[in-house]
Amino acid sequence: MSTEQILCNGCGVDSKSVYFSGVLKEVSKMEIEDWLFMKPYVFTHVIKDLAETHGIVHFDTIKDASLFFYGMREKHELSDNVIKFSAAYKFGKRQGNCIPKDSNAQYNGSN
Ligand SMILES: [Zn+2]
Repeated sequence: MSTEQILCNGCGVDSKSVYFSGVLKEVSKMEIEDWLFMKPYVFTHVIKDLAETHGIVHFDTIKDASLFFYGMREKHELSDNVIKFSAAYKFGKRQGNCIPKDSNAQYNGSN
């Protein structure tokens, strides 16, 4: 585990977490955060170890997570790497997506 742990409302809450994986070995969480800051979404922080090929993005609210998830789920290019976003799973249960769509939210692109 990393020693610098930031806590937010999304920590440990699957409905406020979006999982990602890809060709991401040696891609730092700072690099991913810098890249995400250029996107039109609000998030709190990224959790990823340098050696891992996956990680989690956290959000303060379910709405933020929902906007991000439905706008970003798919593959994206990050520098020379590929990153793919998917829903976090409930701990212990493979229930699949537990991020609800927000009926009041404006979603970008195709839903
Ligand atoms: Zn968090």
